[in-house]
Amino acid sequence: MDLTHRPRRLRQDRVRGLVSETSLEPADFIAPVFVDATTDERRPIETMPGHERVPIDESVARVEEVLETGVEAVMLFGIPESKDPEGTRAWADDGVVQEATRRITSETDAYVITDVCLCEYTDHGHCGPLEAELRGEDGSHEHGPECDPIRTVDNDATLEALDRIAVSHAEAGADMIAPSGMMDGMVAAIRAGLDREGFEHVPIMSYAAKYESAFYGPFRDAADGAPAFGDRRHYQMDPANAREAMREVRLDAEQGADVLMVKPALPYLDIVGDLRREFDHPIAAYNVSGEYAMLHAASEKGWLDLEAVAHESLLSIKRAGADLILTYFAEDVAERLSDRS
Ligand SMILES: [Zn+2]
Repeated sequence: MDLTHRPRRLRQDRVRGLVSETSLEPADFIAPVFVDATTDERRPIETMPGHERVPIDESVARVEEVLETGVEAVMLFGIPESKDPEGTRAWADDGVVQEATRRITSETDAYVITDVCLCEYTDHGHCGPLEAELRGEDGSHEHGPECDPIRTVDNDATLEALDRIAVSHAEAGADMIAPSGMMDGMVAAIRAGLDREGFEHVPIMSYAAKYESAFYGPFRDAADGAPAFGDRRHYQMDPANAREAMREVRLDAEQGADVLMVKPALPYLDIVGDLRREFDHPIAAYNVSGEYAMLHAASEKGWLDLEAVAHESLLSIKRAGADLILTYFAEDVAERLSDRS
């Protein structure tokens, strides 16, 4: 038996750290924050323990809590006070994200990234205005068997809206813009809008390979963004496809995306790894609400050690090639990393 090679030699206690290939830091994380214009008080999100929807008045306090853990960046999601077929509150100067962004950027040092999409703002819950064929005479939506399900969101009309939303966020002080709607041409439209209005310095983090995933379930509680009919499979990616992700992401890179994101993270680490090898851009991965909720649920039953699996999850995402990790575990894991050092 030839045992010249014994990998166990390097697994002994005092050498492990020296040969460790991957480590996590609070600066790797982006914490999602939900700001809700329909409430005056903080409301816990039942399916995402430890997370809340906070009113605009509490948005600065909420972000200060994040900063105390060592996490330096937040991703803002907004729940507007009203919704309509076009999602017009998404680009309102006094909209929920615009107002929260103004306060957070003027009162804290947080790096503020804003989610740019329409699904929380449209009354039908899709990521853009619907194609005309799907609307009734009075402009209301009528969905029935006569609808061609392929014609849901009007891609090109949505691009105009995304341009307006991104500019309104930048005007409010957003540090980075993150379009999540998976519309064709969205990065180019937003880049053009930002540059036209003098925001050449504001980077775009594109949700470049966003899959039509069942792991988003709990988020829909958090952001009130469930589609009123159908699903998003005609614009988000088919979970079966990996080569398509390269094509999809390459288009965003060509359109000027500064950071490329994969969402969800854990079920799609092969895609994160592929992107890492294929592109020189920073790669982000979104460890989504379902990935968070299932670990919490199992630990509540005593089946998993929450602290250990949360850390291992984020470490795996980074090892696969992500530079930035959006995660609901951001604060908890960052706090423990700071305790350790
Ligand atoms: Zn959306």
